Amino acid sequence: MSRTQFIVGVDLGGTNIVVGAMPADGTRQLGIRSEPTHAERGSEGVVDRIVSMVAQVISNVISAEGALPQDFLGVGMGAPGPLDREKGIVVVAPNLGWHDFPLRDSVSERIQLPVTLDNDANCATVGEWWRGAAQGGRNVIGVTIGTGIGGGVILDGELYHGSSDVAGEIGHTTIDSTGRYCRCGNYGCLEAYASGPAIAVRAREALERAEVSMLHQLVGGKLDQLTAATVYEAANRGDPLALEIVHDTAKFLGTGVANLLNILNPDVVVITGGVTKAGDALFEPLRAEVKRRAFRPAVAACRIVPGALEGTAGMVGAVATFKQQKLGGA
Ligand SMILES: [Zn+2]
Repeated sequence: MSRTQFIVGVDLGGTNIVVGAMPADGTRQLGIRSEPTHAERGSEGVVDRIVSMVAQVISNVISAEGALPQDFLGVGMGAPGPLDREKGIVVVAPNLGWHDFPLRDSVSERIQLPVTLDNDANCATVGEWWRGAAQGGRNVIGVTIGTGIGGGVILDGELYHGSSDVAGEIGHTTIDSTGRYCRCGNYGCLEAYASGPAIAVRAREALERAEVSMLHQLVGGKLDQLTAATVYEAANRGDPLALEIVHDTAKFLGTGVANLLNILNPDVVVITGGVTKAGDALFEPLRAEVKRRAFRPAVAACRIVPGALEGTAGMVGAVATFKQQKLGGA
Protein backbone atom coordinates (compact mmCIF):
# COMPACT_ATOMS: atom_id res chain seq x y z
CA MET A 1 0.00 0.00 0.00
CA SER A 2 1.40 3.40 -0.96
CA ARG A 3 1.67 5.99 1.78
CA THR A 4 -0.74 8.94 1.96
CA GLN A 5 0.87 12.16 0.77
CA PHE A 6 -0.01 15.55 2.23
CA ILE A 7 0.01 19.15 1.04
CA VAL A 8 0.01 22.16 3.39
CA GLY A 9 -2.21 25.15 2.54
CA VAL A 10 -1.56 28.73 3.73
CA ASP A 11 -4.11 31.54 3.43
CA LEU A 12 -2.37 34.82 4.24
CA GLY A 13 -4.80 37.63 4.96
CA GLY A 14 -4.39 41.15 6.29
CA THR A 15 -5.97 40.12 9.61
CA ASN A 16 -5.37 36.38 10.00
CA ILE A 17 -3.20 33.58 8.67
CA VAL A 18 -4.95 30.22 8.25
CA VAL A 19 -2.80 27.10 7.82
CA GLY A 20 -3.86 23.47 7.47
CA ALA A 21 -2.94 20.28 5.67
CA MET A 22 -4.86 17.97 3.39
CA PRO A 23 -4.15 14.56 1.93
CA ALA A 24 -3.42 15.07 -1.78
CA ASP A 25 -6.89 13.79 -2.69
CA GLY A 26 -8.41 16.70 -0.73
CA THR A 27 -10.79 14.53 1.28
CA ARG A 28 -9.94 15.91 4.72
CA GLN A 29 -8.81 19.14 6.39
CA LEU A 30 -6.19 18.47 9.07
CA GLY A 31 -4.59 20.49 11.86
CA ILE A 32 -6.26 23.82 10.97
CA ARG A 33 -4.72 26.81 12.78
CA SER A 34 -5.65 30.48 12.58
CA GLU A 35 -3.45 33.20 14.07
CA PRO A 36 -3.32 37.00 13.78
CA THR A 37 -1.10 38.22 10.93
CA HIS A 38 0.48 41.12 12.87
CA ALA A 39 1.31 42.88 9.60
CA GLU A 40 2.78 45.75 11.66
CA ARG A 41 5.74 43.50 12.52
CA GLY A 42 6.84 43.70 8.89
CA SER A 43 7.37 41.15 6.17
CA GLU A 44 10.03 39.16 8.06
CA GLY A 45 7.74 38.91 11.09
CA VAL A 46 4.92 37.60 8.88
CA VAL A 47 7.26 35.07 7.24
CA ASP A 48 8.42 33.91 10.70
CA ARG A 49 4.79 33.39 11.68
CA ILE A 50 3.95 31.44 8.49
CA VAL A 51 7.03 29.23 8.87
CA SER A 52 6.26 28.39 12.50
CA MET A 53 2.57 27.70 11.75
CA VAL A 54 3.52 25.38 8.85
CA ALA A 55 5.99 23.54 11.11
CA GLN A 56 3.31 23.12 13.80
CA VAL A 57 0.74 21.82 11.32
CA ILE A 58 3.24 19.32 9.87
CA SER A 59 4.23 18.11 13.33
CA ASN A 60 0.55 17.74 14.37
CA VAL A 61 -0.29 15.74 11.24
CA ILE A 62 2.78 13.56 11.78
CA SER A 63 1.59 12.63 15.27
CA ALA A 64 -2.14 12.38 14.48
CA GLU A 65 -1.83 10.45 11.20
CA GLY A 66 1.39 8.51 11.70
CA ALA A 67 2.86 10.42 8.75
CA LEU A 68 6.57 10.94 8.05
CA PRO A 69 8.25 14.25 7.11
CA GLN A 70 8.84 12.95 3.56
CA ASP A 71 5.07 12.44 3.11
CA PHE A 72 4.68 16.25 2.76
CA LEU A 73 4.90 17.30 -0.87
CA GLY A 74 4.95 21.05 -0.35
CA VAL A 75 3.06 24.20 0.53
CA GLY A 76 0.44 26.04 -1.51
CA MET A 77 0.08 29.68 -0.49
CA GLY A 78 -2.59 32.30 -1.17
CA ALA A 79 -1.78 35.98 -0.60
CA PRO A 80 -3.42 39.32 -1.35
CA GLY A 81 -2.56 40.47 -4.87
CA PRO A 82 -1.64 41.67 -7.39
CA LEU A 83 1.11 39.09 -7.63
CA ASP A 84 3.82 38.10 -10.06
CA ARG A 85 3.18 34.37 -9.93
CA GLU A 86 6.17 33.41 -12.06
CA LYS A 87 8.59 35.15 -9.67
CA GLY A 88 6.53 34.39 -6.55
CA ILE A 89 6.36 38.07 -5.64
CA VAL A 90 3.61 40.07 -3.94
CA VAL A 91 3.60 43.23 -6.05
CA VAL A 92 1.32 45.41 -3.90
CA ALA A 93 -0.59 44.48 -0.74
CA PRO A 94 -2.02 47.62 0.95
CA ASN A 95 -3.33 45.67 3.98
CA LEU A 96 0.15 44.25 4.62
CA GLY A 97 2.09 47.36 3.56
CA TRP A 98 4.14 45.30 1.10
CA HIS A 99 5.69 46.24 -2.24
CA ASP A 100 7.54 43.72 -4.43
CA PHE A 101 8.08 41.24 -1.62
CA PRO A 102 9.47 37.80 -2.66
CA LEU A 103 7.08 35.84 -0.43
CA ARG A 104 7.31 32.44 -2.12
CA ASP A 105 11.09 32.11 -1.92
CA SER A 106 11.30 33.68 1.56
CA VAL A 107 9.06 30.88 2.87
CA SER A 108 10.51 28.12 0.67
CA GLU A 109 14.11 28.77 1.80
CA ARG A 110 13.09 28.43 5.43
CA ILE A 111 10.95 25.30 5.25
CA GLN A 112 12.91 23.38 2.60
CA LEU A 113 9.80 22.38 0.66
CA PRO A 114 8.46 23.51 -2.72
CA VAL A 115 6.04 26.45 -2.39
CA THR A 116 3.52 27.88 -4.88
CA LEU A 117 1.85 31.28 -4.69
CA ASP A 118 -1.49 32.49 -6.05
CA ASN A 119 -3.93 35.28 -5.30
CA ASP A 120 -6.00 34.68 -2.13
CA ALA A 121 -9.37 35.21 -3.84
CA ASN A 122 -8.34 32.89 -6.67
CA CYS A 123 -7.52 30.29 -4.01
CA ALA A 124 -10.88 30.75 -2.25
CA THR A 125 -12.68 30.27 -5.56
CA VAL A 126 -10.69 27.14 -6.39
CA GLY A 127 -11.30 25.82 -2.86
CA GLU A 128 -15.08 26.16 -3.21
CA TRP A 129 -14.86 24.58 -6.66
CA TRP A 130 -12.73 21.64 -5.53
CA ARG A 131 -14.39 20.80 -2.21
CA GLY A 132 -17.16 23.32 -1.52
CA ALA A 133 -20.35 24.88 -2.89
CA ALA A 134 -19.16 25.25 -6.51
CA GLN A 135 -18.33 21.57 -7.07
CA GLY A 136 -19.27 20.34 -10.51
CA GLY A 137 -19.19 23.83 -12.06
CA ARG A 138 -17.37 24.37 -15.35
CA ASN A 139 -17.43 28.18 -15.47
CA VAL A 140 -17.23 29.43 -11.90
CA ILE A 141 -16.88 32.92 -10.46
CA GLY A 142 -15.98 33.40 -6.81
CA VAL A 143 -16.65 36.66 -4.99
CA THR A 144 -14.95 36.97 -1.58
CA ILE A 145 -16.23 39.73 0.65
CA GLY A 146 -14.22 40.88 3.64
CA THR A 147 -12.07 43.94 4.25
CA GLY A 148 -12.10 44.21 0.46
CA ILE A 149 -13.86 42.39 -2.34
CA GLY A 150 -11.81 39.89 -4.32
CA GLY A 151 -12.73 37.50 -7.05
CA GLY A 152 -11.64 34.46 -8.96
CA VAL A 153 -12.61 33.22 -12.41
CA ILE A 154 -12.58 29.60 -13.56
CA LEU A 155 -13.31 29.18 -17.28
CA ASP A 156 -13.79 25.81 -18.95
CA GLY A 157 -12.45 24.12 -15.84
CA GLU A 158 -9.29 26.22 -15.49
CA LEU A 159 -8.40 29.13 -13.26
CA TYR A 160 -8.10 32.21 -15.48
CA HIS A 161 -5.29 34.63 -14.55
CA GLY A 162 -5.41 37.03 -17.51
CA SER A 163 -2.38 38.59 -19.23
CA SER A 164 -0.68 39.89 -16.08
CA ASP A 165 -2.39 38.05 -13.18
CA VAL A 166 -5.03 40.76 -12.64
CA ALA A 167 -8.12 38.82 -13.79
CA GLY A 168 -10.96 38.55 -11.29
CA GLU A 169 -10.59 41.94 -9.57
CA ILE A 170 -14.36 42.12 -9.28
CA GLY A 171 -14.26 44.49 -6.30
CA HIS A 172 -12.77 47.20 -8.48
CA THR A 173 -15.29 47.06 -11.29
CA THR A 174 -17.40 50.21 -11.45
CA ILE A 175 -21.09 50.07 -10.51
CA ASP A 176 -21.58 53.87 -10.33
CA SER A 177 -19.33 56.06 -12.46
CA THR A 178 -19.73 59.08 -10.17
CA GLY A 179 -20.06 57.10 -6.96
CA ARG A 180 -18.16 56.67 -3.71
CA TYR A 181 -14.39 57.02 -3.59
CA CYS A 182 -12.53 53.69 -3.47
CA ARG A 183 -9.10 53.23 -1.87
CA CYS A 184 -7.82 51.97 -5.27
CA GLY A 185 -8.20 55.58 -6.52
CA ASN A 186 -11.27 54.95 -8.65
CA TYR A 187 -14.83 56.12 -7.94
CA GLY A 188 -17.88 53.90 -7.64
CA CYS A 189 -16.16 50.50 -7.31
CA LEU A 190 -18.30 47.61 -6.02
CA GLU A 191 -15.89 47.37 -3.06
CA ALA A 192 -16.71 50.94 -1.99
CA TYR A 193 -20.33 49.82 -1.40
CA ALA A 194 -20.34 46.19 -0.39
CA SER A 195 -17.10 45.33 1.43
CA GLY A 196 -17.33 44.83 5.21
CA PRO A 197 -16.03 48.35 6.04
CA ALA A 198 -18.27 49.91 3.34
CA ILE A 199 -21.33 48.19 4.85
CA ALA A 200 -20.38 49.63 8.26
CA VAL A 201 -19.95 53.13 6.75
CA ARG A 202 -23.38 52.99 5.12
CA ALA A 203 -24.94 51.79 8.39
CA ARG A 204 -23.36 54.67 10.32
CA GLU A 205 -24.62 57.16 7.75
CA ALA A 206 -28.13 55.71 8.04
CA LEU A 207 -28.04 55.86 11.85
CA GLU A 208 -27.26 59.54 11.70
CA ARG A 209 -30.61 59.95 9.93
CA ALA A 210 -32.85 57.30 11.51
CA GLU A 211 -34.37 57.58 14.99
CA VAL A 212 -34.64 53.95 16.15
CA SER A 213 -32.54 50.91 15.44
CA MET A 214 -31.25 48.00 17.47
CA LEU A 215 -27.81 48.87 16.05
CA HIS A 216 -27.45 51.70 18.59
CA GLN A 217 -27.85 49.26 21.51
CA LEU A 218 -25.66 46.55 19.95
CA VAL A 219 -22.65 48.88 20.01
CA GLY A 220 -23.60 50.60 23.28
CA GLY A 221 -24.12 53.89 21.44
CA LYS A 222 -20.51 53.86 20.16
CA LEU A 223 -20.98 54.14 16.42
CA ASP A 224 -17.24 53.83 15.73
CA GLN A 225 -17.48 50.23 16.99
CA LEU A 226 -20.17 49.30 14.51
CA THR A 227 -19.02 46.67 11.99
CA ALA A 228 -20.65 44.73 9.16
CA ALA A 229 -21.07 41.81 11.61
CA THR A 230 -23.22 44.06 13.84
CA VAL A 231 -25.42 44.80 10.84
CA TYR A 232 -25.89 41.08 10.03
CA GLU A 233 -26.71 40.31 13.66
CA ALA A 234 -29.36 43.05 13.83
CA ALA A 235 -30.76 42.00 10.45
CA ASN A 236 -31.09 38.40 11.61
CA ARG A 237 -33.03 39.71 14.62
CA GLY A 238 -35.40 41.60 12.33
CA ASP A 239 -34.17 45.17 12.79
CA PRO A 240 -35.73 47.16 9.92
CA LEU A 241 -32.81 49.54 9.41
CA ALA A 242 -30.25 46.70 9.37
CA LEU A 243 -32.47 44.80 6.93
CA GLU A 244 -32.52 47.86 4.69
CA ILE A 245 -28.68 48.04 4.75
CA VAL A 246 -28.48 44.33 3.87
CA HIS A 247 -31.07 44.82 1.11
CA ASP A 248 -29.07 47.71 -0.38
CA THR A 249 -25.90 45.57 -0.15
CA ALA A 250 -27.71 42.83 -2.07
CA LYS A 251 -28.67 45.30 -4.79
CA PHE A 252 -25.08 46.55 -5.15
CA LEU A 253 -23.72 43.00 -5.27
CA GLY A 254 -26.49 41.97 -7.65
CA THR A 255 -25.48 44.75 -10.01
CA GLY A 256 -21.86 43.58 -9.99
CA VAL A 257 -22.84 39.93 -10.38
CA ALA A 258 -25.23 40.72 -13.26
CA ASN A 259 -22.29 42.31 -15.12
CA LEU A 260 -20.30 39.10 -14.60
CA LEU A 261 -23.19 36.99 -15.93
CA ASN A 262 -23.42 39.03 -19.11
CA ILE A 263 -19.63 38.99 -19.66
CA LEU A 264 -18.76 35.41 -18.69
CA ASN A 265 -22.02 33.39 -18.57
CA PRO A 266 -20.94 31.26 -15.56
CA ASP A 267 -22.82 28.24 -14.25
CA VAL A 268 -21.94 29.02 -10.61
CA VAL A 269 -21.31 32.24 -8.71
CA VAL A 270 -20.10 31.42 -5.20
CA ILE A 271 -20.03 34.20 -2.61
CA THR A 272 -17.81 33.76 0.44
CA GLY A 273 -16.96 35.80 3.52
CA GLY A 274 -18.75 37.29 6.50
CA VAL A 275 -21.55 38.75 4.39
CA THR A 276 -22.99 35.25 3.86
CA LYS A 277 -23.99 35.35 7.56
CA ALA A 278 -26.86 37.61 6.47
CA GLY A 279 -28.35 34.50 4.78
CA ASP A 280 -31.56 34.72 2.75
CA ALA A 281 -31.96 38.39 3.68
CA LEU A 282 -28.98 38.93 1.36
CA PHE A 283 -29.28 36.14 -1.21
CA GLU A 284 -32.97 36.55 -2.14
CA PRO A 285 -32.78 40.23 -3.14
CA LEU A 286 -29.33 39.61 -4.70
CA ARG A 287 -30.74 36.91 -7.00
CA ALA A 288 -33.72 39.15 -7.81
CA GLU A 289 -31.43 42.02 -8.77
CA VAL A 290 -29.35 39.75 -11.02
CA LYS A 291 -32.54 38.50 -12.65
CA ARG A 292 -33.65 42.08 -13.33
CA ARG A 293 -30.35 43.07 -14.93
CA ALA A 294 -28.78 40.09 -16.74
CA PHE A 295 -29.93 38.25 -19.86
CA ARG A 296 -32.45 35.52 -19.18
CA PRO A 297 -30.43 32.56 -20.56
CA ALA A 298 -27.47 33.70 -18.42
CA VAL A 299 -29.67 33.86 -15.31
CA ALA A 300 -31.26 30.49 -16.08
CA ALA A 301 -27.84 28.80 -16.42
CA CYS A 302 -26.39 30.13 -13.17
CA ARG A 303 -26.79 29.24 -9.51
CA ILE A 304 -25.74 31.93 -7.03
CA VAL A 305 -24.75 30.29 -3.76
CA PRO A 306 -23.00 31.02 -0.45
CA GLY A 307 -19.65 29.29 0.10
CA ALA A 308 -19.58 26.04 2.05
CA LEU A 309 -16.03 26.13 3.47
CA GLU A 310 -16.37 28.72 6.21
CA GLY A 311 -12.96 30.17 7.01
CA THR A 312 -10.96 27.54 5.09
CA ALA A 313 -11.82 28.06 1.39
CA GLY A 314 -8.53 29.93 0.83
CA MET A 315 -6.47 27.23 2.57
CA VAL A 316 -8.20 24.42 0.65
CA GLY A 317 -7.75 26.28 -2.65
CA ALA A 318 -4.06 26.93 -1.88
CA VAL A 319 -3.62 23.16 -1.55
CA ALA A 320 -5.48 22.65 -4.85
CA THR A 321 -3.37 25.23 -6.72
CA PHE A 322 -0.17 23.62 -5.40
CA LYS A 323 -1.43 20.28 -6.62
CA GLN A 324 -2.39 21.71 -9.99
CA GLN A 325 0.93 23.51 -10.51
CA LYS A 326 3.29 20.87 -9.15
CA LEU A 327 1.47 17.61 -9.80
CA GLY A 328 -0.70 18.60 -12.78
CA GLY A 329 -4.45 18.56 -12.29
CA ALA A 330 -6.55 18.90 -9.13
ZN1 LIG B 1 -11.61 50.27 -6.35
